[in-house]
Amino acid sequence: MKPMGPIPPGFEANASGQLLIGGRLVSDIVAEAGGTPLFVYDTRIIERQIERFRATMPSEVALHYAVKANPYGELLSWIAQQVDGFDIASFGELGRVAHLGLPISFAGPGKTDQQLETAIRAGVTINLESEGEAERALAIAAHGSRPPRLAVRVNPPFTLKGAGMKMGGLASQFGVDHERAPALIRRLVAAGAEWRGLHIFTGSQSLHAEALIDVQAATVALAAELAAQAGASPPEVNLGGGFGIPYFPGDEPLDLEAVGAALSKVLAERPKILAETRFAIELGRWLVGEAGVYLTRIVDRKESRDETFLVADGGLQHMLAATGNFGQLLRRNYPVAIANKFTSEPSEAITITGCLCTPLDLLAHEVAFPRAEPGDLVAIFCAGAYGLSASPQEFLSQPRARELLV
Ligand SMILES: *Cc1c(COP(=O)(O)O)cnc(C)c1O
Repeated sequence: MKPMGPIPPGFEANASGQLLIGGRLVSDIVAEAGGTPLFVYDTRIIERQIERFRATMPSEVALHYAVKANPYGELLSWIAQQVDGFDIASFGELGRVAHLGLPISFAGPGKTDQQLETAIRAGVTINLESEGEAERALAIAAHGSRPPRLAVRVNPPFTLKGAGMKMGGLASQFGVDHERAPALIRRLVAAGAEWRGLHIFTGSQSLHAEALIDVQAATVALAAELAAQAGASPPEVNLGGGFGIPYFPGDEPLDLEAVGAALSKVLAERPKILAETRFAIELGRWLVGEAGVYLTRIVDRKESRDETFLVADGGLQHMLAATGNFGQLLRRNYPVAIANKFTSEPSEAITITGCLCTPLDLLAHEVAFPRAEPGDLVAIFCAGAYGLSASPQEFLSQPRARELLV
């Protein structure tokens, strides 16, 4: 028997033990969507996260949504009413949020001239990833009628680590090395661009408040230092994000209150050059990850040697991360349940696989579940971020996943 990750708070069952998502029965949700496999996103859980962020973080910190985590259209329209800006990491994401009326900043390496031109014309802030990209943006804007909005993404000399700072400055395709940032800021200002400020992103999926506290303090200090060297005060400093959620056995939720208290103190004592600066934190996973449930129906039950397998109609092609193949070093079990027997006692060790012809397609390995049969529904939690859009949906030409916001 192997352990699985914790089911996020906010999921309950009705009297007969059927899982409710957003207060609705999964069987009704599946019927409304037209079947499985299906991603369901519960707006109440996203709302809970946003309310917690607003209550905890200092008021001068804006909340941006990192579209990369989940670009589902209905979710973007809904979240546009709740957050202060969109951070995009590709031109395709611009197309998904351009009509939603929020400020947009555009990071990511490899922006083409055509993409830069469209983004500049749309008034999007471009987080410059290199001096070369800066020169291309300035040359393109020279033909246009408005000064381009340009921010400098900085490759800092530290990174987000569980055990404090790692000083030393790694090489990266992301951002301009910090020691060269002041010269680039001066160049942008001299060329007549609207310099929007700095973007410093140091990492993802941290559950360690101490690590985040250290990295945020270091980021504010670095922003002040670079601004002083450039002789210009940044209108905006994007502090990055990196807030994680528990996925696996033993993971503890991030102590957001500790992070908020420490950041409040850092901002209250910040250097004068940042006095007028607006700060932002960009979050994807922490906002939407726990709101998503992937529902897939059991098609077959079989014994092999001394193991019992349930085979589902979905799998790795929609939910790669749950199979341990999205950058994890070791495969561990995501939180999983039999959705229509949510409150039944576990009675047997089960391995749940998807329907792909590859042994990689493992959704739960030797986990204790109640007895389940073909027709029952499997729920995989923590599927709201880096789910469908981070999975190889074309692999093996299986039916596409449905998505629904409730
Ligand atoms: C991916 C990414 C994010 C979002 O990270 P999460 O772990 O989903 O919060 C934020 N900013 C940048 C620059 C990113 O590349």
